[in-house]
Amino acid sequence: MPRSSVDRRAVLVPTLVHAGRSWAVGVAALALSAEVFGVTPPLDPAVAGYRRDGGQADPRRSAVPVPVQRRAVPFPAAPIDREISVPTTVRAWGAPSATDPLVPLTIERRDTGEHDVRIAIRYAGICHSDIHTVRGEWGDITYPQVVGHEIAGEVTEVGAGVTKFKVGDRVGVGCMVNSCRECENCQAGLENYCLKGNTGTYNSVDRDGTITQGGYATEVVVDQDFVLNVPESLPYESVAPLLCAGITTYSPLAHWNAGPGKKVAVVGMGGLGHMAVKIAAAMGAEVTVLSQTLSKQADSLEFGATAHHATSDPSTFEKLASTFDLIINTVSAELDLNAYLKLLRLDGTMVNVGAPPQPLPIQVFTLFGGRRSFAGSSIGGIRETQEMLDFCAEHNVSPATELISADQINEAYDRVVKSDVRYRFVIDTATI
Ligand SMILES: [Zn+2]
Ligand SMILES: [Zn+2]
Repeated sequence: MPRSSVDRRAVLVPTLVHAGRSWAVGVAALALSAEVFGVTPPLDPAVAGYRRDGGQADPRRSAVPVPVQRRAVPFPAAPIDREISVPTTVRAWGAPSATDPLVPLTIERRDTGEHDVRIAIRYAGICHSDIHTVRGEWGDITYPQVVGHEIAGEVTEVGAGVTKFKVGDRVGVGCMVNSCRECENCQAGLENYCLKGNTGTYNSVDRDGTITQGGYATEVVVDQDFVLNVPESLPYESVAPLLCAGITTYSPLAHWNAGPGKKVAVVGMGGLGHMAVKIAAAMGAEVTVLSQTLSKQADSLEFGATAHHATSDPSTFEKLASTFDLIINTVSAELDLNAYLKLLRLDGTMVNVGAPPQPLPIQVFTLFGGRRSFAGSSIGGIRETQEMLDFCAEHNVSPATELISADQINEAYDRVVKSDVRYRFVIDTATI
């Protein structure tokens, strides 16, 4: 197991502080990413404590010290299981600031607790949320920050109380690594809608008070309740994006009953959109892609859509008026929502999983006509995420990906921003 040598004299005794979160998720979250809904708000750097990591020295690495930030634990979830916890130093790529490119650095992972699973990360997807977060576009964060919440790897160690996984299992981790487990939403298996806010895989307050660091790393330690089984039949190199893009689109499609006899439109053909097309088609729905141009038409049809229309052509909106039962909007930019809402047939619903930064105006009269609904959706619960992975395995659904090495991350970020990716970058973490 790739554990680093750790100075056992320098033991860390974490202090648990049981405190509720002082913030709440409000209506304003409509303007946030579907994936980060409910995740930690920007952190106050003033409360961060700094410590140099004392772990392995890798000559290939530039010695970037990583601060270990501690804050009050958001809720009294599973306690640290050992009296003395010895963190492990692992390699990662992270952002030193909002404006610097990502660089190689090291971070600490907690010791494998009683209910923890230690995972050797093999592949990590790049989500647009990663870019928004590290560039401070969704608010100030504390740096350095390692992002990445599309993680695929293998179990290398399990705690004594772990029952769901064994060493060697192929597993995944998505956008969250903990929740309160007690509120009505958690009890219902909807940890993504935890009333106290779930713990995001990065930029969130972990149970030991440290700031979570994400998947652009060689290892991660996660409570077994937030680890997913990745079916072996899913292609290892491209499975990671299912953990965010996959569940973000699967959940609303399932909730609003996409299936045979239903007409589904997918707005935007990017990382999220292409997964929505594939999953909706696998569910048996009739799928139409609404993209700015016709440039991705061939891909749409290959992924299972039966039609592809250009939204830059005004006649599209006339031709398709009152057509769809469900519209999944994956676009984060400002759209004329009223034009799209008019494409819904009676009782149709438009669901936003894209995250425009500004509020979008809705003409309520557009909702009146056709008893239409406008909704949002945020990833999915752990149970549903497992269901999604099993569904994708059964229906041979997997993301279209481009495998890159760690030193290509910054270039990949620029390409994601320019929508120049078909359709998701995945980092081969062996290159980290
Ligand atoms: Zn994401
Ligand atoms: Zn909860």
